[in-house]
Amino acid sequence: MAAHDPVEQKYVYDFAEGNKDLKDLLGGKGANLAEMTNLGLPVPPGFTITTEACKAYLTTGREPDGLAAQIEAHLESLEREMGRRLGDPDDPLLVSVRSGAKFSMPGMMETVLNVGLNDRSVVGLSNQAGGNDRFAWDSYRRLIQMFGKTVCEVPGEEFEHALDEIKRAKGTHNDLDLDADDLRGLVDAYKQIFAKHTGREFPQEPREQLDLAIRAVFDSWNAERAVLYRRQERIPADLGTAVNVVTMVFGNLGPDSGTGVAFTRDPGSGAQGIYGDYLANAQGEDVVAGIRNTVPLQELEQLDKTSYDQLLGIMARLEEHYKDLCDIEFTIERGKLWMLQTRVGKRTAAAAFVIAGQLVDEGLIDLDEALHRVNGAQLAQLMFPRFQLDHEFEPVAKGIGASPGAASGKVVFTSARAVELAAEGESVILVRRETNPDDLNGMIAAKGILTSRGGKTSHAAVVARGMGKTCVSGADELDVNVPAKKFTVGDHVVSEGDVVSIDGTTGKVYLGEVPVMPSEVVQYFEGELDPENTDDALVRAVHRIMTHADGARRLRVRTNADTGADAARARRFGAEGIGLCRTEHMFLGDRRELVERLILASGERERDDALAALLPLQRADFIEIFREMDGLPVTVRLIDPPLHEFLPPLEQLAVNVAVAQERGEDVAKEEALLAAVRRMHEENPMLGLRGVRLGLVIPGLFAMQVRAIAEAAVAVVRDGGTACPEIMVPLVGAVQELETVRAEAERIIAEVAGDSGVEVLIGTMIEVPRAALTAGQIAEAAEFFSFGTNDLTQMGWGFSRDDVEGAFFWRYLELGIFGISPFESIDTDGVGRLVRIAAEEGRAARPGLKLGVCGEHGGDPDSVHFFHSVGLDYVSCSPFRVPVARLEAGRAAITTTGSDSR
Ligand code: ADP
Ligand code: MG
Ligand code: MG
Repeated sequence: MAAHDPVEQKYVYDFAEGNKDLKDLLGGKGANLAEMTNLGLPVPPGFTITTEACKAYLTTGREPDGLAAQIEAHLESLEREMGRRLGDPDDPLLVSVRSGAKFSMPGMMETVLNVGLNDRSVVGLSNQAGGNDRFAWDSYRRLIQMFGKTVCEVPGEEFEHALDEIKRAKGTHNDLDLDADDLRGLVDAYKQIFAKHTGREFPQEPREQLDLAIRAVFDSWNAERAVLYRRQERIPADLGTAVNVVTMVFGNLGPDSGTGVAFTRDPGSGAQGIYGDYLANAQGEDVVAGIRNTVPLQELEQLDKTSYDQLLGIMARLEEHYKDLCDIEFTIERGKLWMLQTRVGKRTAAAAFVIAGQLVDEGLIDLDEALHRVNGAQLAQLMFPRFQLDHEFEPVAKGIGASPGAASGKVVFTSARAVELAAEGESVILVRRETNPDDLNGMIAAKGILTSRGGKTSHAAVVARGMGKTCVSGADELDVNVPAKKFTVGDHVVSEGDVVSIDGTTGKVYLGEVPVMPSEVVQYFEGELDPENTDDALVRAVHRIMTHADGARRLRVRTNADTGADAARARRFGAEGIGLCRTEHMFLGDRRELVERLILASGERERDDALAALLPLQRADFIEIFREMDGLPVTVRLIDPPLHEFLPPLEQLAVNVAVAQERGEDVAKEEALLAAVRRMHEENPMLGLRGVRLGLVIPGLFAMQVRAIAEAAVAVVRDGGTACPEIMVPLVGAVQELETVRAEAERIIAEVAGDSGVEVLIGTMIEVPRAALTAGQIAEAAEFFSFGTNDLTQMGWGFSRDDVEGAFFWRYLELGIFGISPFESIDTDGVGRLVRIAAEEGRAARPGLKLGVCGEHGGDPDSVHFFHSVGLDYVSCSPFRVPVARLEAGRAAITTTGSDSR
């Protein structure tokens, strides 16, 4: 195809031709090398082969037409510029071949340095370096090692062993003690290893080395670990990687040379300053490999003040240019500084807020941009209690932070033991190689879950996140032995009953109990820390950005709260009303007896008595909540679950009756209860007699609740308060259901409210697909809709959360059928479409119809953006999620351009 194209596709870009916005095409590394080149910073010359070339190679299995010629042309011009030819025996040009995808995938793909060295050019290199044989042979052995490992899959340990062998023979641990002869010997040993594993000699032809290395980088995109990493990080599989060919500069030329990495500020806390490591007389990969001890970057000032000052200048320049924290890699070759990489640096959640705030102070970004740079997931992380870590606690293992939080407890290895110990009031951590659906009860009982296998989509991770439980998965240093009830990690043996602590945010595992401290961000939300008057930079930054989000957002944020205490806390967290007050708990505890009377009532009289007894109790509950939410709307949902859920479980009741009968006791009442439970038993309670159906079947039930709400509102108003109740009817599927309830409710409200001025809105949940699809009709009888996205998801997909989440979600995630659990983040294509239809048709039928969401999606960052885009008026979520929703609603309002917040 390409051969017939009038204009051949451009696959190779000189650094001078690119810029930082071309990440899709040039990868992150290539785009930023180009950007630095064009800023006039000292970057060794080179070129980038595009991701398009990689994609073409990966689909067809061969390099696309024109690629070889373009590489040749760019190589020639590089050779001209440098005045050297690749691998020239007398005066060789050497290059590195470096992968670089759009999103950084640390450690996933590799780099080959010193390409162009062979048995002859190694001598030329030595001459270039003024007869430095040691350096030349060190560079050559590195090439064979890296080329062998990354390009030809020779096991890396073999090279390591050979190196150790020579060091041992020499009686040293330091590779700097090896002289030129030692290294020449090492090259021979490496070549043998290479030949043994590949069945061929190490390639001497420089251009062949280059082509094979480029191809290996392309192939590394589909290496197993890269595929796994992408799936976990939700990086699309079809992006491909670019390849950078960069002129080598040498940090291993002697004590006046070296290499280092640095951040422009502390990526942990966000504090300003220089954070980095430097290693003299070394090549790039030595710094991270930990072969020798690095020194703090500040010490470079003593070693080479000129380069140090220049580096600081460049770092300041980069920050100003990228307007963000940058991380960099650099090399000093005989006193000359070279920049080898930069990118906007990763950071912790705390640093994200602090840095965003600082950059506003420095005038580099505005508050909109600061708001864009942080996100709700980071804020949520900052609200979890944290381990109070000091030098006493060193992690023994690190897995994947699968579900955030900090948990300590006694180790158990089985679900049964977890349940047992938890029942005795112990905190336990369930440790398994991996979990499966049989572990569910143990997972519920445990404070935290720790597995040695599996990633972010493993059963343990998915279920733990669904439960909001701390989980570290895939801590593969742990050797878990369930039958022996112990695990080993390093030199430690941990047995059942020993205490461990796990951090579900960082994935770190500690032995013993690490003390937990409350989050200062929560203290701030609670009003215990004055943001104007604290030296806590994080609290100041959070306050500032939250204030901006509140000013920017269009969505209101309410809370789900059933008690006065929850309502009060949510209000402190910024809730602007209650979007869902469940009335279920008002039928529990010592009120169960009244519910039993209601269910067992043999006639109208008895039933009315039971309801009359419940009325004042409910009224008192509502008064408390209305008082806490004074002046703000409170949406009360009429009773939703099937009544038999308030009775004792069938099995237990049956046993009680049998035992009592045996003893000859009077069991008339229990028998009646048992009969009622049997009668009301449902195969499929999720789809049974619940919600509005219950209200239409049990006379007086909804009426009692409506009366309690109205009376409570009147009482609050008489006391000088302002109550704004909204009555919400659950599970409506047809407008006729709502009309029936509404007629009775309106009558009662009119009677109770009298001239008190109390007004009560009546609306419905939209949680049955039919309701969404007939929203135009339903809106005629509803003053508001509140989307119950949990049920809408269950009924939209046709599965019940409790049954399926532990059963097969992990598999669906693994297969990519779900990108994320539809209970975690709303399924915008399906369930979201129902929301959109209902919103549009509801508003068309009744302009100004109030629209909200209750259910945990209301506090999920991505879902909040979706609800904003649909034009809802508010989201409602649990108290702790209120700040997250406020922040994301603000971000949704400013990120209308859809820029990438990854
Ligand atoms: P990674 O993405 O794993 O950091 P890099 O491509 O950045 O891989 O390279 C690995 C190491 O090699 C880095 O420390 C880098 O600075 C160093 N390096 C890469 N290219 C060159 C070069 N042309 N000259 C000197 N060092 C280099
Ligand atoms: Mg790098
Ligand atoms: Mg529901």
